[in-house]
Amino acid sequence: MDASPPDRYSRQERFAPFGAEGQRKLRSARAAIAGCGALGSFHAAALARAGIGGLRLIDRDYIEWNNLQRQWLYEERDAAEALPKAVAAARRLARINAEVAVEAETADLTAANVDDLLSGVDVILDGTDNFETRYLINDWCVDRGVPWIYGAAVGSYGIVMPVLPAETACLACLYPEPPSGAQPTCETAGVLNSITAAVAALQVSAAMQILSGHADCVPRRITTIDVWTGEIRQRRQPGPQPDCRACAERRFPYLDSGRRAPISLCGRNAVQIHERSRPLDLAALGERLAALGEVRSNEFALRFFIAPYEMTVFPDGRAIIKGTQDTGVARSLYARYIGA
Ligand SMILES: [Zn+2]
Repeated sequence: MDASPPDRYSRQERFAPFGAEGQRKLRSARAAIAGCGALGSFHAAALARAGIGGLRLIDRDYIEWNNLQRQWLYEERDAAEALPKAVAAARRLARINAEVAVEAETADLTAANVDDLLSGVDVILDGTDNFETRYLINDWCVDRGVPWIYGAAVGSYGIVMPVLPAETACLACLYPEPPSGAQPTCETAGVLNSITAAVAALQVSAAMQILSGHADCVPRRITTIDVWTGEIRQRRQPGPQPDCRACAERRFPYLDSGRRAPISLCGRNAVQIHERSRPLDLAALGERLAALGEVRSNEFALRFFIAPYEMTVFPDGRAIIKGTQDTGVARSLYARYIGA
């Protein structure tokens, strides 16, 4: 690929507060995007188009047809092939801006791998869909002094908050405990694509400020938006709280790798089984399973259909089992078809 024409980024360089100097800094910066769904695929496309130096894409899931309504990077054939999101996103980004160094990590971000997956970047953008992972990111970032941008959207409503360790309140300052009880999710309450774009756009703006050397300009505000009622509210984001377990007491329970159950509900009618250091030979597994049910596989994942269940198995031993919310059923299917 030839180098880009010199005016490739001229429109954003011409924006005076950003300028050519901001562009130069952005070019040598790297961001991690945790979760490549609606928010993350917007982050990735926007930062690639803006000319960031490198992106690390982290996502545990594969593309389904119901993702296409709001997950900007993906196309029908990605859903038809059920490609892992990180892989499909990396392919698309290579066509959008070949100069960006993209690392695709098909993995579940956990305490066991958080160091490997988040180290070496200048900012982390939250594209996750659950509080467990957000607190993990928060703990890691406050511990290491790396900024991250919290963002969430469901229904027509969304929230954005930058976390600049030692300068602003962190997630644990404001919400010491995850919300209790069932929370609305995109599966149960639906989600409009415009709210995901609005939230992701504000997150990208804050990331661009940080990466271009203007972290001091990042609005110290908590912004909530409802695209259905048209309400946009902001409140001042306080500084680190003196009683925060993370900022003040330096306690980071989410970094404890013993904390996480090896099996969890995965949002929709599905259960995820996490295995560590259990690499699988997907080709051999596929040959074995072909006698028992329909198998579809590519180099990234294997899908096995055994009615009424559908199992997607990744090379690291992780599996997502659809068709049940019963962790016992999922574990027994895993043991029966993949191995205990
Ligand atoms: Zn805090």
